[in-house]
Amino acid sequence: MNPSKPASSTDSPRPEGPPWHSLPAKAVLETLQSSPDEGLSGSEARARLERHGPNVLQHVSGDSPLVLLWRQVNSPLIWVLLASAALAIALGKVTDGLIVLAVVVLNTLIGFVQEFRASKAIEALTQMVPENATVLRDGQKQAVPAAELVPGDVVLLASGDKVPADVRLLAARNLQVEEAALTGESVPSEKRLAPVDASAGVGDRTSMAFGGTHVTYGTGTAVVVATGSATELGRISQLLREAVDLQTPLTKALAIISRYITGSILVISLVLLGVGLLRGYTVAESLMAAITLAVAAIPEGLPAIVTIALAIGVQYMAARRAIIRKLPAVETLGSTTVICSDKTGTLTRNEMTVQALWTPSSTWSLSGVGYSPQGELRREGQPPGPPTEDARELLVAGVLCNDAALRPMDGVWELTGDPTEGALLAAAEKAGLKVDDSRERHARVDAIPFESENQFMATLNEDGQGGRIILLKGAPEVVLRRCTHDGPDAGKVLAEVERLASRGMRVLAMASKAVPASHGGLRPEDVTGGFRLLGLEGMIDPPREEAIHAVKACHTAGITVKMITGDHAKTAEAIGEQLGILEGGRAVTGAQLAEMDETRLREVVTSSNVFARVAPEHKLRLVRALQKEGHVVAMTGDGVNDAPALKQANIGVAMGITGTAVSKEAADIILTDDNFASIAAAVEEGRRVYDNLIKSLAFVLPTNLGLAFILIVGVAFFPIMRLGGEEVPLLAMLPTQLLWINLVATVALALPLAFEAREPDVMQRLPRHPDAPVLSRFVLMRTALVAVLMCAGATGLFLWEYNADLRRGLMHDLALAEAQTMAVTTVIMFQIFYMLNCRSLRDSVFRIGLFSNPVVYAGIGLLVLLQLGFIYLPFMQRVFDTAPLSLQELGLCALVGAAVLPVIGLEKWWRSRRARRQDRETGGRLQWRVPRRATVG
Ligand code: ATP
Repeated sequence: MNPSKPASSTDSPRPEGPPWHSLPAKAVLETLQSSPDEGLSGSEARARLERHGPNVLQHVSGDSPLVLLWRQVNSPLIWVLLASAALAIALGKVTDGLIVLAVVVLNTLIGFVQEFRASKAIEALTQMVPENATVLRDGQKQAVPAAELVPGDVVLLASGDKVPADVRLLAARNLQVEEAALTGESVPSEKRLAPVDASAGVGDRTSMAFGGTHVTYGTGTAVVVATGSATELGRISQLLREAVDLQTPLTKALAIISRYITGSILVISLVLLGVGLLRGYTVAESLMAAITLAVAAIPEGLPAIVTIALAIGVQYMAARRAIIRKLPAVETLGSTTVICSDKTGTLTRNEMTVQALWTPSSTWSLSGVGYSPQGELRREGQPPGPPTEDARELLVAGVLCNDAALRPMDGVWELTGDPTEGALLAAAEKAGLKVDDSRERHARVDAIPFESENQFMATLNEDGQGGRIILLKGAPEVVLRRCTHDGPDAGKVLAEVERLASRGMRVLAMASKAVPASHGGLRPEDVTGGFRLLGLEGMIDPPREEAIHAVKACHTAGITVKMITGDHAKTAEAIGEQLGILEGGRAVTGAQLAEMDETRLREVVTSSNVFARVAPEHKLRLVRALQKEGHVVAMTGDGVNDAPALKQANIGVAMGITGTAVSKEAADIILTDDNFASIAAAVEEGRRVYDNLIKSLAFVLPTNLGLAFILIVGVAFFPIMRLGGEEVPLLAMLPTQLLWINLVATVALALPLAFEAREPDVMQRLPRHPDAPVLSRFVLMRTALVAVLMCAGATGLFLWEYNADLRRGLMHDLALAEAQTMAVTTVIMFQIFYMLNCRSLRDSVFRIGLFSNPVVYAGIGLLVLLQLGFIYLPFMQRVFDTAPLSLQELGLCALVGAAVLPVIGLEKWWRSRRARRQDRETGGRLQWRVPRRATVG
């Protein structure tokens, strides 16, 4: 053994260890004290885990807090505000300057804390999907968390797996590994067992597979040689930086909008400065008015609100079993128009049960459900009984050409492996055959594993009489093509297949071929022909109850559901019918798709909802065709070859339980329960998030603009009073007071809207057009209406109170302070009522439940307390020039503030009437409108 340092492809120091790639497999096993058949014992694995530590790479989360903070500060908006604060202080308006600073600091802090928390939350979620590895421990095949692997563990690799650690290969069949993560090379490299030169670089070590790379084809067995940071990947990237990108199309659009708003407000501020000077304001007063306008009207809180709404969406989706891997998906979900779903396991339960057997001479039924030993075999028209020889042969073939295992557990069986294969084992046991006995008597010599694109699996076994036998199991068409003509008539077999498939069954055919005992291994040419058909096994896999409901919900939400399956067309049609997907149509097969040109494909993809015998490459074409038709497509996938389609889809959805590591990494969303209903739930959440963003916008923009109006009206039109030789401009609100509103109200009131519950009709509307502008006509109209109303209410009440106070003989100063305090309080009340109104954009607040979002009331409670302090605390009175109000006056403020309720109520009524009219014109039903101009992929 040579413990010296092996050559490495980089200059950094290597973790200690022999050059495993240049040693024969046997020597590696000896060094690591492991066995290829038994693996490590459980206790030894635990001891090694103590010694070596867990098999994880150290992660450093994206940006450091300081970088995050700087990102918050470094925006044109903040610089404008900071300059304003400095200017105010320089002009001697220290209080005003300090309040502006407080606005800036508070907003920056909120933005920072939220963004930090959001990125942590999203990071934590991505780690919720566990990575498992299949290992041999104590001679048993079992799945363990990849983090628990130790050197010496024997791991099994199959296509689609992520290699869980650095391993030396012990056995390989057509094993190909894509090592881009390590070498940057995306063409898969072929792996072999032979040792390579000690000086070979990482990319040339064909006898090894490295942690973090992906198996793209074939299978293999290997022994772990290095884990965690001792792996090649750990070495080149001691610290894996995993930045969570918090940018989405929406945040980008809002950033642009914010820039425009800021620019226009700066221009308006300059105009106001000019107006102030012209009207006889001092320079300091004019500047202060301009600064206040800028601070009050710029929606500083918006970026934080958007981030929060998205982060909350991500968490709600996780609670509903959809883990978001890429943040933009939260938004895209809301505009999804088509969901293309796999059948097995997603729309169906993946609880396969064999119910029918067919051999060329007999037909059988099998009772009982799932992987339980209860059930009876019955030949057609006869009482239950044992299988005849031909049926026995068929069942045994199903057991031998099979990688699954059933373990008895509390009276039922626990399945390890593919449910389709589990069903074949259960069928044999029900028929009285012992799986273990058969497997012992007919030991396996070699195997060609099942791959979706081949649709068959083959094994080479001892035949129990000194010879050997090749067993073939797979899709009937595929198996029949390899059978000799002297068997049963192919037409008759296919008719039987159709009969079973049209009952919703997945049908597998078994065939065998005798070979001499000298036949050492399986080559591709061994499985091209010469087989004898043994028969068929038909198994049911019922639709998931919740999938049926979810399909219905999607239809009401204007979303088309399409089923894409590798199964037979008849099986697909039967299941599609039960799920409500087929809608009277026919299934289109992969072979038919392959013959279509682009134009025909685009027609068919729109009109058909069920696609059968589809290969992964067809999925990519289907997604593209749908996107060309303007659809926003969500597509599920679990296999290694589904990755391109998942990437191409607007939303790639991977399966958390049965999905391969490759598909998970290509996806935008991972379902932790593999259930179609979770996609529908995610869509619902996506729509809610978007609604809440619009609600926040519809709240923030009008109230900011309203404040600006109040100031502009004052500066432009209110008289300048001459009091005791001094000229004092009359304003409904002092700049400090305006800033106070901006400081407390927006934060306390706008943030809670991001937590708003779903609107009752969220799944009864059409999907949102992906190109729909954020500042829709609705938001713009609302902004204008509410701003004018707020300005009129506050200014009107101010003037009324001011004049009444003067008439009552109150001193001018006191009258002004009281009237201004009332104006501020009115605006605050107005905002509270308006915010309650914004909780639903279409419905009355009562319909969505007055108390369905408690966060709202926490915000209101906080604001009311602060406002009472503003009015009654002597310290606040000094800082903000406020005066205490009587209960009556408070009531009056509330009354004027509440005026927003009937006005917006009227507006909602008018809009819903218009919507109803449109509804009538479209026949009272949701009309399927495909957004032709959609930007896709
Ligand atoms: P879906 O797309 O609905 O999820 P699927 O992806 O499970 O279906 P595949 O696994 O690609 O479909 O199976 C395609 C066909 O291959 C099946 O209809 C069946 O005939 C055959 N088949 C499935 N599993 C096996 C297996 N383990 N061994 C041999 N043949 C199989």
